[in-house]
Amino acid sequence: MISIAIHGGAGVINRASMSTENERAYRIDLERALDAGYAVLEKGGASLDAVVAAVRILEDSPLFNAGKGAVFNHAGINELDASIMDGATQKAGAVAGVRHVKNPIELARMVMEHSPHVLLSGEGAEEFALEQGVTLVPGSYFYTERRWKQLEDAQQAEKTQRVASAADEDIGFFSTVGAVARDRNGNLAAATSTGGMTNKRWGRIGDSPIIGAGTYADNATCAVSATGSGEYFMRAVVAHEICARVRLSGVTAAKAAHDVVHGTLKDIGGDGGVVVVDKGGAITLEFNTEGMFRGARDSGGRREVAIY
Ligand code: ASP
Repeated sequence: MISIAIHGGAGVINRASMSTENERAYRIDLERALDAGYAVLEKGGASLDAVVAAVRILEDSPLFNAGKGAVFNHAGINELDASIMDGATQKAGAVAGVRHVKNPIELARMVMEHSPHVLLSGEGAEEFALEQGVTLVPGSYFYTERRWKQLEDAQQAEKTQRVASAADEDIGFFSTVGAVARDRNGNLAAATSTGGMTNKRWGRIGDSPIIGAGTYADNATCAVSATGSGEYFMRAVVAHEICARVRLSGVTAAKAAHDVVHGTLKDIGGDGGVVVVDKGGAITLEFNTEGMFRGARDSGGRREVAIY
């Protein structure tokens, strides 16, 4: 069985405030990403290539909080995080707080494949990007009006001590992107990319570039990519926790994902979701929020994209 699952973030996705046109745009980009990843697998390609192909498309779409369209930090700058893990070798690569890398997921993969390290951050990561010949762009490339308005609103809310409402935030906070896949050889891979959280400061880094929290893959169990309130995903080490449960207690990945997302994570106050593919190729899409932009496709004929 070959399978791929993707997400474009989870959270308060207000059905009433989402126009039909908007919804269509999200679905189109999710389908494009899903099908691009699946096409790699169908041709006999590796799960690592499939997850990168899918995430790249979501990074290039201005709709999602990753690459183009990423949220702004407190200083009005886009700082991007990404990570990738190879379930066959347990190798992993990640970048945090990069400001000029067009596709952070590609840089994360280069960290995994062309450096002795797992996680590079900030200027050092960009120096590495330059050496590797990764596409660099001026900071203005990441600008979108919608994300700028979200920053203004968040800062206004902070000043007046008003909690930013779901309507203000639109479909904002958690629209990180990610993908998990199983290829023909039974190899699993997971990838996640994000702009983090609107109005973040002090060099804040979330779960997305943290191996074990936002991303994990192990051929013996499953591959996981997460989205949601990063601080809680880090504390619950969500992605690794799901794989560990499968390995240690023999539950299915579906049960492990359900219990972690609705139990462990929710119990400490964490909101969000995960996409999971297990060693046999079974897909699980689990979230404890109102919605999660998501998609799943496998060689058993499943092909779906959903939001709520
Ligand atoms: N998990 C991401 C973070 O905390 C946010 C998201 O999922 O959109 O940085």
